[in-house]
Amino acid sequence: MLAGQPIIILRENVERTRGFEAQRSNIMAAKAIAAAVRTTLGPRGMDKMLVSSSGDVVITNDGATILHEMSVQHPGGKLVVEVAEAQDGEVGDGTTTATVLVGSLMEEAERLLAQEVHPTIIANGYQLGMEKALEILDELAITVVFGDRDDLLKIADTAMTGKSIEAVKDKIAGIVVDAVCQVASETGQGTYVVDEDDIKIKTQVGDSMHDANLIRGIVIDKKRVFEQMPTKVTDAKVALLALPLEVTKTQVKSKIKITSSDQMKAFSEQERESLQKLADQIVASGANVVLCQKGIADAVQYYLAKHGIYAVEDVKEEDMKFAAKALCGAIVNKPEELNAATLGHAEAAEEVPDADLTVISGCDNPKAVTILLRGTSQLLLDELERAVYDAARVVQDAIEDGKFVVGGGSVETELQLRIRDYAATVGGRVQLAIEAFANAFEVIPRTLAENSGFDTIDKVVDMRKVHADGAKYAGLNVYNGEVVDMREAGVIEPLRVKTQAIKSATETAMLLVRVDDMMITQAGKPGPQ
Ligand code: ADP
Ligand code: MG
Repeated sequence: MLAGQPIIILRENVERTRGFEAQRSNIMAAKAIAAAVRTTLGPRGMDKMLVSSSGDVVITNDGATILHEMSVQHPGGKLVVEVAEAQDGEVGDGTTTATVLVGSLMEEAERLLAQEVHPTIIANGYQLGMEKALEILDELAITVVFGDRDDLLKIADTAMTGKSIEAVKDKIAGIVVDAVCQVASETGQGTYVVDEDDIKIKTQVGDSMHDANLIRGIVIDKKRVFEQMPTKVTDAKVALLALPLEVTKTQVKSKIKITSSDQMKAFSEQERESLQKLADQIVASGANVVLCQKGIADAVQYYLAKHGIYAVEDVKEEDMKFAAKALCGAIVNKPEELNAATLGHAEAAEEVPDADLTVISGCDNPKAVTILLRGTSQLLLDELERAVYDAARVVQDAIEDGKFVVGGGSVETELQLRIRDYAATVGGRVQLAIEAFANAFEVIPRTLAENSGFDTIDKVVDMRKVHADGAKYAGLNVYNGEVVDMREAGVIEPLRVKTQAIKSATETAMLLVRVDDMMITQAGKPGPQ
C-alpha cells in the first residue's frame, strides 16, 4: 500500500548526516581543530594573530584563547573546543595538549573504523586505555612539598615557556610562586588549598615588563582625588563607601521646583549641609583613607584633605570587594555604618609616584596579594596576563595535589610504551583499540619535535628507544634536539594538567566516535507548517 510514498519524519529544515558520513564529519572537525592549534605547542611553538569582526587584534599562544576567538560552528568541533575550555577552567594549562590529543585519538579511530572495528569496541578500548593511563601517571608522578620553591619555580617556568613574554619569565615565576604560597592555606590534613580569588592581577600600560611587582596588599588604579591630600598615610583605617559623596544629578532633578533666588539659596545651603554632614561622619569614624565607589564633591574633597585623609573616587566595584576582603572591612551604604568593625585596616596607603596608582600594603588579611604587571603595549600586557594566570594556576595545582610529572614529551612517550604493553595482555579486537589509544600519545613528542624544526621520525624513535632502555624521564631538548633527562632539565608540570587533558580528551573522543547520525536543524529556514 505504502510503496512509492515517502514517509516524512523530519522537518524540511533538518539536515541529516548518517553512518560513515557522520563519523567522517566529526573526525574531520576534530582533526582540523587540532591542526589549527598544534603549531603553537611547546616552547618553540608559534603564535597566532586573531582579528575579530570588530577589528580587535589578539596575538596569543594560548590554545583556549585561540579556539575561543575562532568561533567554531561545527557541532562536533564545538565539543572539541569545550575540551580546551574545560582544561582552562579546571587546571589553567595544557589546553593545546588536550586539543591535540583529541585530534590524535580521532585520527586513530578513523584508522580503526576503516578496518571495520566497531565504534563500541573503539570506545571500550579507549576507556580501558584511559584507566591504565591514569594509573601509570600516578606511578610516574613525583611529590612536591609546599616549601619546595625550586620545583615550584620550575613548574611556573615550564608553563610560561614559549610565550612572547619569555624575557621576564624568571622574574615572573618568582612573583607567581611567592603570591600563590602567600595565599595558600593548610587544610589540617597536611594538604593545602588555594583560593585563586585571593590573587589579583593588575595591569598597567607604560613601563617595561621588568617592572612587574608583587604587592602584599591591594592596588587601585587611581590617584588620590585631591592634591592637598597626603600622599601617604600610615596605620591606615579605610572607609569603604558605596555611596556617592556628592549630590548626584538624579537627586537634583527629582521634583524640586525652584522659583525664587531665596529658595535657590536655601536649597544650595541644604545641599552643602548634607555634604558637610557626610564628611563629618567620615572624619568622626576615625578613617584616614576613603575608597569611594562613586564621585566625591569638591567641597568634601577639601574637607577630607583638611583632616589629612587620603581619598580615591570612582573605585571599581570588583576593587572595592577585593579591598573589603583584604582589609577585613565592609563596604557600607550609609555613613552611619562606619565604625571600628566596618573600617578596613592596613599598615599604609600611598600613591605611587609617576603612576596613577594607589597601593595599600600590609593589609589585615595577609591572604590577599596583587600581582602588578606592566608593559609597553596592551597586546603584550594581555599575553603577559594570560601567562601569569596560567603560571599561577599550575603552581596552585602543584601545591594542592603535591604531585608533578615530567614534560618535554617524556610522560607521553612512557604512556605510549606502557599502554602498548598492557594492550598485549588484553587480546581480542579491543587490543587494537587500546594500541590505537596508546599510539595517540605520540602526537605530543612528534609535535614538539616538528615545531622545533627537527626530524619527527628520528626524534620519536630516539625517545622511544631511550625510554625502552629505562630512562623514564627522557624528553626532547627543543633547542638542540638532544634527548635528555627532563627532570634534570627542570621541565616539569603538575600531574593534574596531564590527568585532566587525558580524561577530557578521551571522553570527548569516545562520545564523538559513537555518533553515527547527526540531525542539524537549520536556523532561519522555516520548516513546513
Ligand atoms: P599547552 O597549552 O598544552 O600547555 P604549551 O604550548 O604550553 O601547550 O606546550 C606544552 C608542552 O610543551 C608540554 O608538553 C611541555 O612538556 C612542553 N614543554 C614546555 N617547556 C619545555 C621545554 N623547555 N622543553 C621541552 N618541552 C617543553
Ligand atoms: Mg602551557
